[in-house]
Order: sequence, then structure tokens, then C-alpha cells
Amino acid sequence: MEPMGDVLPEELLRDSAEDLYENAPAAYLTSLLDGTLVRVNQTLLRWTGYEREELVGRKRLHDLLPPGAQIYYETHYAPLLQMQGEVREIALELVRADGTRLPVLMNSTLVADDGGKPRAVRTTAFDASERRRYERELLAARADAESRARAAQALEHIAEGVVLIGDGGEVQLMNHAAERIFDVSAAAAVSRPATEALGGWEALAIQVAIAGDDEAHAAHVVPLRRDQGDVWLSVTAAQAGAAVVYTIRDVTGEHRLDQVRSDLVAIVSHELRTPLTGTLGAAQTLQGRYNDLPEAQRLALVSMIVEQSQRLEKVLDQILLAGQIDEHVFDPQVRSVDCTEILDAVVRGVGPDDRRRIVVETETGLVVRADLDRLRQVVANLVDNALKYSPGPVRLAASPREVAVRITVSDDGPGIPEGDRDRIFEKFFRLDPAQQSGVGGTGLGLYIARELIQRMDGRIGLLSRERGTTFFVDLPRAEGYGRI
Ligand code: ADP
Repeated sequence: MEPMGDVLPEELLRDSAEDLYENAPAAYLTSLLDGTLVRVNQTLLRWTGYEREELVGRKRLHDLLPPGAQIYYETHYAPLLQMQGEVREIALELVRADGTRLPVLMNSTLVADDGGKPRAVRTTAFDASERRRYERELLAARADAESRARAAQALEHIAEGVVLIGDGGEVQLMNHAAERIFDVSAAAAVSRPATEALGGWEALAIQVAIAGDDEAHAAHVVPLRRDQGDVWLSVTAAQAGAAVVYTIRDVTGEHRLDQVRSDLVAIVSHELRTPLTGTLGAAQTLQGRYNDLPEAQRLALVSMIVEQSQRLEKVLDQILLAGQIDEHVFDPQVRSVDCTEILDAVVRGVGPDDRRRIVVETETGLVVRADLDRLRQVVANLVDNALKYSPGPVRLAASPREVAVRITVSDDGPGIPEGDRDRIFEKFFRLDPAQQSGVGGTGLGLYIARELIQRMDGRIGLLSRERGTTFFVDLPRAEGYGRI
């Protein structure tokens, strides 16, 4: 078979072998056993910037290494070479003539003479700067990915909701807290228009101004209407590239507290001022005209002072008791209590005119587990409300149930609308907050009643009726004591 292509002259081949050695893509160094360099190729000279005469017969291999690597060379590299006859792929650096360094991968082989005696070392060094750069980039990319993963993890765990909205109005990202606030999973919301995916978003977004890069992020407190009741959100919005990032904090608790504070101020100003004005007026009239007034009028003024002071005392007691209940300092003294005793005491506490409107229907011998004073206070409050809010008769009854005794207070008054039946037990809640009917009250009575009864293991509620209102209080019977 004919050889392929032209046959190169022998001389050209020899030249090219020489050229290959000198200009190979690797540095070649031959050294004696003590390290003295005896031959180096052109590539090494090009890489290091030395002249051949500066190296050959003048420097040792490890003179080309930085100080730390020199020690490594002597303690590890050279002994390993002696033991194994070769060393492969050790990452080292060569120090160039100008002091800069070149990362290399070094391989060395021990060369023996004909008698098998080691005489020299042949070393090949590959430029590893590309590889190092690649490794560095790989490390940097990994660090970057890790820091992004940590940022994403932090985002999932912060208390604030974070929602990213794209310039097309679509949800791009939402964290766990935002899922809770909007009651929707990120999987269900992402990529959909925010106005569709997040209930109440439209109303919320309209109210919140979007801060630019250098602007302060002003928080807006806005309500979010939900079936389970309103929540109040403190929202900031900031431009983030083409998207807008919303940070959302649920401040319903704080908002409710603010509401309670302003309710308290309103009540204190009205419910305390009214009886105080009455008391002061009556006392000043007595003081100024005592001798001019007929006996009957003097007595009427004194009665007014007593009545209004009692009203003041009642309002103050309610405010204090509500505070104690909230701070959990109230502890009921539960013992066996005869219901007849309670109902009698309540009726006795009512003024003579109102007393005539009360009808009591009870069996004797109904004994419950309760705090006597607190139960009397609760029933008195229910009777008081019935007398206050309805003009007609008020029925007060106690009847046995399976493990409980039920006390009911009924009237034929205006009743309580279906939608307000739960709210009626909230602190400061009044059907007529502006008191247009002229009937005063703190809105604390039923709140206190529910808290007290629950702490006696009982239940309080409203029975549905066509007309009027019936409140019930269930308490555990003393003999069959157990939770209701
Ligand atoms: P208040 O001091 O205002 O009476 P309560 O907590 O005792 O406070 O009652 C809360 C609200 O419930 C009242 O303001 C009133 O609007 C309503 N309410 C309570 N009892 C009755 C009733 N028997 N009939 C009609 N409305 C009632």
C-alpha cells in the first residue's frame, strides 16, 4: 500500500521534534538530583521571562517556586519522587523573573542511567491559570447560588409578607407570610394577575404609593376585607426594576388596640362625664340654695347625687374589671350556689319601679358551680340591659338541663339583628354607638359577662326569637359537675 501524502525529508522531521520540545504547550525542565537545572525549553523561558543563561547551571528547580512551595518541594515532592520514581499533577506556582506567579500542574520523572542509578529529574509543567480561573469562577458561582438560596430561605421565614408584581400586573413571587395574609398558595397565585389571584388587591394597590429608588418607603395602613372579618395591613411599595415589590405587615392587633383606646376615651368622656355633671349640678344647687329649698326637693337632689354616683361607680368598676380580665388577674371563687338565691338577689338590686316589670319563673333546688358574686353580677347585667333596652316585661327564669342549669333573661324589646349576635360580646360593642336612643352604656357589660362565665366553665349566648331578646347562661350543675 502506498503511503499517504508526501514523505517529509528526515531533516525537517528532526527540526520539528526539536521545535516541539522547545515550543510545546508545556514547560520542560531537566534537573540534577540536587535540583540544578541542566536543560529548559523555550516555553518555560517565555512563561517566566528568564533568559536561558540565568537558569541553566545557575538555579535549582525549587528556586523557581515561592517560599511555601519550596518547603513543600523538599519535604514532600522530592521524597515522593525518590520513592515512586515519579510525581503526577501537583498544583504549584512558578515565580516569574518579575516576581509574579504562574499556577502550574507539575509532573516529574526520575531518569536513571544504564546501570539503573537515578541521575536526573525530568519535569513537565502545564499552565493551570485557565483551570484556576475556571475553579475560581465555579467557586464564585457556587457562593452566589448559596447566597441566593439563603436570601430565598430568609424571605420565606420573615414575618412580613413580600409580593413581587410584574409590570403586566402579574404576581411574580410571594413568600409564605404573604400566602397567609391573602389566604392563597404561591403556586396558585404566581403568573396570574394580582387583581384575580389576591383577594382585595385592587383596593389595596390603589391606596399605596410606589416609592422610587431613592425615596423613603412610606407605610400605608389599609384594610383588607375578608369573609372572616377585616384585617389591617401596613403596606410599603417600591419599584424594583420593571417590577414592584410590596412589603406587607398584618397590623390588625395594633389597629384593634388603637380602636380600643379611642373607644375607651369616648366612653370615659361620655359615660363618666354625664353622671359627674348631674352629681356636681345637684351638689352645687344644694350648696347655694340649701335653706331656700323645700325638704322634698332637697331629698330629690340628694337621691340624684346617690344615683349618679352609683352610675359612676358602676362604669369605673366595669373598666377596672375588664382590665383585670384582660391581664388574667381575675380568678373566680367557684362553689355551690343556689340559683334561687342568685335570682332573688338580682331582683332585690333593681329599683322598685323596674322590679314590677320583672317576672321570675324558677324551680327550687337548682344548684350550680359558680362564683356567687360574679354570677349575680352577670345576671344583674342581663336584667339591667333587658330593662334598659325594652319597655315591656322582663322574664327571669332558671331551669334544669342535662348536666347544667340554664338561666334565661327575656324581653320583648327591639331584639338584636342576626349579624350582630356574635359581635355583641365584643369589648365596647354597642348597637347604638352614638347613643342616639339616649340610653347610655359602656359596651363592656356583655364582654365582661362572657369572660366571667367562660372562666366558670359555663356558656353564655343568645337564643333566636321572633321578637325581643333572650340571653341564656348555662352553668354546670353542682351534683353532676362537668364541663358543658
Ligand atoms: P351596654 O353598657 O352598652 O349596655 P353591653 O355590653 O351590656 O353594654 O351591651 C352591648 C350592646 O348590646 C348594647 O349597647 C345594646 O346595643 C345591645 N344589647 C344588650 N342587651 C340588649 C337587649 N336586651 N336588647 C337589645 N339590645 C341589647
